[in-house]
Amino acid sequence: MPSGPLFFCLTVEGYPVERNESLLNLKGIGPKTYAALNQLGLFSADDMLRYYPRSYKEYGAPVSYEDLQDQYFCTVAGTIKGRPILRRGKRADLVIARLETNTKSIQLNWFNMPYLVSALKPGRRVLVHGRARKRGNGWSIDQAEVFSEEEYARRQGSLQPVYRTGKGVSNNLLQKHIRQLISETEDRDDPFYAVAKEAGVELPPGRIEQNIHFPENYDIYKSARSFLAFQEFLTFMLQMRFGMSNSPAYPNCLPSFDRQAVDRALKALPYTLTEDQTDVLETILSDMSSPHAMSRLVQGDVGSGKTVLAFMALIFAACNGSQAVMMAPTEVLARQHYEKFIRFLEQSGLSIETALLVGSLKEKEKKAVHEGTSDGSIRIVIGTNAVIQEKAVYRNLGLVVTDEQHRFGVGQRRSLFEKGMCPHVLVMSATPIPRTLAMILYGDLEISRITQMPVGRLPIKNCMLKEKDRLKAHRFLLNEVQKGHQGYVICPLIDESEAMSGENVSAYGKLLKEEMGDRARIAVLHGQMSPKEKNRVMEDFAENRIDLLVSTTVIEVGVDVANATVMLIENADMFGLAALHQLRGRVGRGKDQSYCIFMNASGRKEAEDRLNMLVNSNDGFAIADADLKNRGPGEFFGQMQSGAFHFQIGDIYEDADVLRKADEACRKILKKDPDLVLEENGFLRERIALSSEAKFTI
Ligand code: ADP
Ligand code: MG
Repeated sequence: MPSGPLFFCLTVEGYPVERNESLLNLKGIGPKTYAALNQLGLFSADDMLRYYPRSYKEYGAPVSYEDLQDQYFCTVAGTIKGRPILRRGKRADLVIARLETNTKSIQLNWFNMPYLVSALKPGRRVLVHGRARKRGNGWSIDQAEVFSEEEYARRQGSLQPVYRTGKGVSNNLLQKHIRQLISETEDRDDPFYAVAKEAGVELPPGRIEQNIHFPENYDIYKSARSFLAFQEFLTFMLQMRFGMSNSPAYPNCLPSFDRQAVDRALKALPYTLTEDQTDVLETILSDMSSPHAMSRLVQGDVGSGKTVLAFMALIFAACNGSQAVMMAPTEVLARQHYEKFIRFLEQSGLSIETALLVGSLKEKEKKAVHEGTSDGSIRIVIGTNAVIQEKAVYRNLGLVVTDEQHRFGVGQRRSLFEKGMCPHVLVMSATPIPRTLAMILYGDLEISRITQMPVGRLPIKNCMLKEKDRLKAHRFLLNEVQKGHQGYVICPLIDESEAMSGENVSAYGKLLKEEMGDRARIAVLHGQMSPKEKNRVMEDFAENRIDLLVSTTVIEVGVDVANATVMLIENADMFGLAALHQLRGRVGRGKDQSYCIFMNASGRKEAEDRLNMLVNSNDGFAIADADLKNRGPGEFFGQMQSGAFHFQIGDIYEDADVLRKADEACRKILKKDPDLVLEENGFLRERIALSSEAKFTI
């Protein structure tokens, strides 16, 4: 049981720990813990120091019995009633005590802490902190932390880090080791400090790591976060922009600009393009008919019909003497596009040699594609990154389309340039972010937007519910299932071990199974499952072997199931608006009416007002703008990030101000040193190299 003062000095024995030291060599970490830490991507001291809290716990003011909320962390004051009892069990020892509050008493349970029996003296006045749980008519708290009044007074208002935990890795364990590491490693004299300072970013006093992991107060947290976000944004921008100012080896404009084939394909479409689609298509064709290389971003919500524009661009390039490629982030998507495109060509009566190129092809098949692209007989290639990797040689590549690249291939354009090519570049994004942010994040890309949805599409119907209506929501889910549809339930957390308030997929999955029995096939999905397990579940869902998928936000990318018609988002108040809109985009993909239910379990009025924006609108651009506007500085913290651009700590909405500062800094640096060759910028180059290896997980 943690108690006593929060801050203490560790005496360092022996040598300070090096940053690249394996965690296995640290005191208190054995092979088993090490393996568990590895599961979270933690191998070295540096990994752990950079394992930033996902949120913070505030020891808030004590609440009264009447104000307890199910599943929420809280502090309650009272006296220990009678002697606690100890029940020895096969699997765990259980200590049970009762806390007498001003009104009724609360049951307190602790597993495997038998010593508490004697520590909790009857009649002692205490404050307990933990997750409240409704039990029939009463309340209980498991594994509560216990404080004296003085201890609690000291703690109240400070921020405790809450980390993403894993099997065998508790929040306490992470706290302990990170605290220790901070005291045992050297603070690097980070050259980013000077850059950040010059850019006007407020820096916290003292060591960043101390201030981000264990901030003494909110302001310190905020400035530590700003610095780290700045560093992250700047690195990302430099990575995109450096070395791009050189004029490319040769501008690869198309040899001719005949649009007959495109017009033929347009006529063959079973629908007419929306006004927005037409405008964007004309812009693309005119870009491609100019002697300069196009670099254009097309933003449009899921379902706004971007793919058909990409197809038209491919046809235009291929029918005007160039080769064209289209890249998708996954093999599954690449195959889908390929098959769709082949059908599209057939419908249009066009014959253009088109190939699929993905990692899983047999060597022989790959070789055949490579030969075809290098001798020019293959005109169009659709695939994954493989389409522009070393072995792929083109005779005259005139267009590269990337679809749904969340990080839209940082370095991909560079790798083309390095091959001496300068094709037209078209990027398709389903993340409707505000124009001001897009201009910063997408650097030199010109931006087109599709804001209209194709006519005839049924808009998603939305509603917001309070806790007491949860059963209604479940009945609604079941009703959709009985119609043969599928659905999602989104929870912010993975399991109970997470020291945060909110629903978790493990418990929720069980609850739904109990509730629905054999009326629905239910599975869970979260980021800590192995890639193999995740794939299996997603495949089962895609093939309708699962009715309801209880998932964290991992489903945000890559799941496209038209038969899914309903989504229930638990703790919707914990997410940003843009993030919620992205999630909602998983439904409404088929011909049937779809529904999205936002659960505002907190019942808070501000949350309700914010969520109403989503309930009343399906317009991603308007929502993204609102998300940007509605974030007063430091309003909610620990809010789940928007899915766009998986930065580790920075959030493009919440840290928009820092984003702008990083943009200015980036411009300044590149103006002086466009290729980052000056010695003073060595650390930036190093950093870029590091971060392009870094994996981002959601
Ligand atoms: P996204 O922008 O998410 O990539 P898609 O291009 O996949 O969207 O389009 C979604 C669906 O809408 C596809 O089935 C496509 O055929 C259809 N579609 C596209 N444009 C129109 C339109 N103007 N009218 C009717 N349906 C359209
Ligand atoms: Mg698409």
